[in-house]
Formats: sequence, structure tokens, C-alpha cells
Amino acid sequence: MRLKLLLPDVKIGEFRQPKKCSRRNCTGMIFYPRQIVQKKIVDTQYEEVSAWRYECAKCGCTFRVYPEGVNNQQISLRVLGIAVMLSILGLSYGAVELVLGSLGIGIGKTSVYRAVQFAAKKVPGMKAGEDADQLKTWLEPILDAMDADVLVTDDADGFKKVSDDTGRSQQVCKSHVGRNTDALVDELSARIATTQDHSLETIGVTTEQALRDLGKLKEMIHSRIPEDQALLEAMYLRYAKARKPGKGKKHDVAYRIRNLFMDRWNLWPRLTFYRTWKDERFVGIDCFRNNRFLSLLILFTNYQFWNDHTLARPWRFIDLVTRCLKPDGLTRLVL
Ligand SMILES: [Zn+2]
Repeated sequence: MRLKLLLPDVKIGEFRQPKKCSRRNCTGMIFYPRQIVQKKIVDTQYEEVSAWRYECAKCGCTFRVYPEGVNNQQISLRVLGIAVMLSILGLSYGAVELVLGSLGIGIGKTSVYRAVQFAAKKVPGMKAGEDADQLKTWLEPILDAMDADVLVTDDADGFKKVSDDTGRSQQVCKSHVGRNTDALVDELSARIATTQDHSLETIGVTTEQALRDLGKLKEMIHSRIPEDQALLEAMYLRYAKARKPGKGKKHDVAYRIRNLFMDRWNLWPRLTFYRTWKDERFVGIDCFRNNRFLSLLILFTNYQFWNDHTLARPWRFIDLVTRCLKPDGLTRLVL
């Protein structure tokens, strides 16, 4: 992961002298402090901070100067930092809202969204899961701290490597893969029906057969029966002979179908993992019914971590979050 975050502290007594007038194009350099005003904020520590109202000596306009870690937004910079961090960890905006809400920090998912967009603008290339080794460095201590058995992630390759390298089982997000597969099947089916591409002929597969296979895949991806892996393998083998087109040439239909079946065949155990997994007390992952949490990167622990929409053991999560936030803790976050 390329992003480093250092969560800004909120220092209620520390103010920076204004250097510029808040009015656009005003060149004023001298400002008089006029009064102290109170401002309600959403923060981990403070409900309210003081701000200074300054007046510009040149144009007479007034503006506020906020203490360190607070700006004109209602949410403190460190809470925004936590929100960004959780989002990078894989929580959906709604899930971030829920988790922070359970910690007593009221922040809406729209604010989370805005904070993430803002951070992404500041850090070009910010994307979770790009670099498996860095991802592992970041995740492994968290996995250990959480005593996690199962990593729940989207389909990014980096996560597969982390779960394999750390000996964790992995559940790939069902709705993610379902959506992707549906879209791909629809696109490929449409292409078969309309295109002059003869790649299927070349490997001896009729268009009817290909359409049947794609339709079957679409069914399977939603029923997710573990034993269907053998069927996927057989379907993959039908297309295995498709060759990669030469450099710079577009991938043809047969080669794309081959890759699709190969990928889903390999992915299958991770996609259907939840069907058979039980912890030592035979507690299954039944909260998978709840799609809202499927974008979660972490974690189902030995304890059933999520219990139908609610954090069953919130202190485990609080522990994780506070460890992450300590300057010398697991992770140093620099925003
Ligand atoms: Zn001014």
C-alpha cells in the first residue's frame, strides 16, 4: 500500500497566525484578532473547540482561524483520517459510518466519501491492494492482533497473496464477483451474437455451446455450490486451447472466455469458502447473508465478529483501531 497516513492531532490551544485574507484577491497582510467563538465539532476527544475571529485591516472582512487539526468543516481532521484509513482497509462508506458510529463518532457516509476523494486527490495512485508485499506488511500485524482466521476481501490479487502467505483462509466478496461475472457474461454473450470473430471456430467450439457455458456460469456464480468447481474445470478445458493473440492485438472472444473460466475455476474455493467453514465451536459465517458487510477486508475472528449488522465484540475492533492510531503502534498514518 502506497499511502502513509499520520493522523493529525487536534490541539485546541494552538493557532496559526493568518497569513492571507480569506477574501479572494485581497492582498491584506495585517489582521486583528476580534473575538473568540465556539465551534461544535465531531472528534474523538472534543465536542467543541474555540476559534478566533480575525478582521482584515485592508478590506475589513472577518474570517475564522481554527486550532490545529480543525478546519472549517464540522469534522476534525483526525476523524476524517480514521475514516479514510477504514475505507482503505476495505470498508464501504456505509460500513465506515456504522463502525465510527459504534465508537460514538457521528459521521455520515457522504462525509466519508468526500474525505476519501480528497485524500485520493492528494495522493495520486492511492489504491488498496496494489502491492502485495506492502499490503502484507500492513496487514499481517493486524491479522495477528485480531487473531483472525478468515480474510474477507474483494477479488484483488494482492489479498489472495496475503491470505496465502499468512496462512489465512480467504472469502472473496460474493456480490463483487457476482456483479463482475454477470457483466462479463453479458458482454461476451452479446459479442458472440454480433461479432465476426472466428476464434471459437478455431478451437472447435460452437457459438451455441459457448452461450450455454456462459449462461451456466451465470447460474453457478449465484448458487455457489462448492462441488461445481469440477464443472468449471471441464468448461475451462473446452477453451484451454485458445491462444493469446499477438502483441498489440485485441483479445478475441475465445481467449477471453478461456480466462474467465480459468479465473472462476481457480477462485471457486475462495468464493464458496463460507459454505463449509466452521470455527472450532462450529460457528459458521452466517452473517454473510448481510451483503452490506461483504466489502469488508477484515475480519472474521475466532469469535463471531459481526453478528447480524451489529458488532458482537466491539472492543476487539476498538482495540484494533486504537492500536492503528497510536503514533508508535502498528501503523503510522500520514495524511
Ligand atoms: Zn482582506
